[in-house]
Amino acid sequence: MTRRFDDLASAVLAGTPASTDDALEVLRATDDELLDVVAAAARLRRRHFGNTVKVNYLVNLKSGLCPENCSYCSQRLGSQADILKYTWLKTDEAISQANAGLRGGATRVCMVSSGRGPTDRDVERVAGMVGALKQEHPQVEVCACLGLLKDGQAERLREAGVDAYNHNLNTAESHHGEIVTSHTYADRVDTVNRAKDAGLSPCSGLIAGLGESDEQLVEALFALETLGSDSIPINFLMPFDGTPLAGTWDLTPARCLKILAMARFVCPDKEIRIAGGREMHLRSLQGQALHVANSIFLGDYLTSEGQAAETDLEMIRDNGFVVLGSDDDTSGLELVGVGVQAGAGVGLHSHDPAKRRRGAGTDASPNA
Ligand code: SF4
Repeated sequence: MTRRFDDLASAVLAGTPASTDDALEVLRATDDELLDVVAAAARLRRRHFGNTVKVNYLVNLKSGLCPENCSYCSQRLGSQADILKYTWLKTDEAISQANAGLRGGATRVCMVSSGRGPTDRDVERVAGMVGALKQEHPQVEVCACLGLLKDGQAERLREAGVDAYNHNLNTAESHHGEIVTSHTYADRVDTVNRAKDAGLSPCSGLIAGLGESDEQLVEALFALETLGSDSIPINFLMPFDGTPLAGTWDLTPARCLKILAMARFVCPDKEIRIAGGREMHLRSLQGQALHVANSIFLGDYLTSEGQAAETDLEMIRDNGFVVLGSDDDTSGLELVGVGVQAGAGVGLHSHDPAKRRRGAGTDASPNA
């Protein structure tokens, strides 16, 4: 057993921030050291989030047919992935989908649409949905994820009752041009800053497994720390067939656990959310990951299916945690900051995620 990760946790708890070298060391821990890394990161997680897990629920308001060319995305321009494609849900359908997630135990609803960014009309549409949802559930947290924002749009969303805005940096600035060319890294930073300036809780995270180096993963994480992201969704690439990254399979369950631990060491008091790719990449280590991260999405993702919602909740209970805001939660912790991101799947040994065929945009019951 090595004490170096425990010593690092003690230093972070005492107020010394983790350095880039520390982050690299966590990422490059040997598999023999994996439990030591988890145990050390768990100290930070427990300090800031106790035994709670925040549960978020995605509603995909508009799916597919995006003009942007993000190479990881099943909704991108030219994607041949066999996903659901539909235009804006009607307000009552969006509310009904959100309600399913809330009944399942979620405290935050993430309302997402594909596309480069919303028109002012789209913002009004979402504002109406949020108003209707908040009328039914005044306590619900709403995170919007609508793409790049223009002048006045973040303020309008805030005024409508939106609590948080998700826009992921996704990868390091030094790797961004390899992943997408239809918008820039600076565009992404600008939107997170607009959300922040309007009083929305910034939610921004990354996608691991895009062919980035260890140093670039660390670069992306420190950029999120500098940006002041309240919640950090960590996605693991789901290499959809029909997208440029199909067949890219760079991650192992242990590697994913180390990435989450690195995020916890660098941003000890931020919400670290295991996002898309959880089931596919962490596989049987999902439970261990809860000792490092403190937030998950319940049920399905934007274009792919997650494991059964009841299995998510069982996993939380089995690992000794409680859902934040549930009757079992005696932590007194307040609900704060979260966000959004794209799908995962349960095709355990397949590179092609199970496409979502239930919930928003279908007549089938949602997985919640
Ligand atoms: S990530 Fe968003 S902007 Fe990029 S292709 Fe997908 S839906 Fe479009």
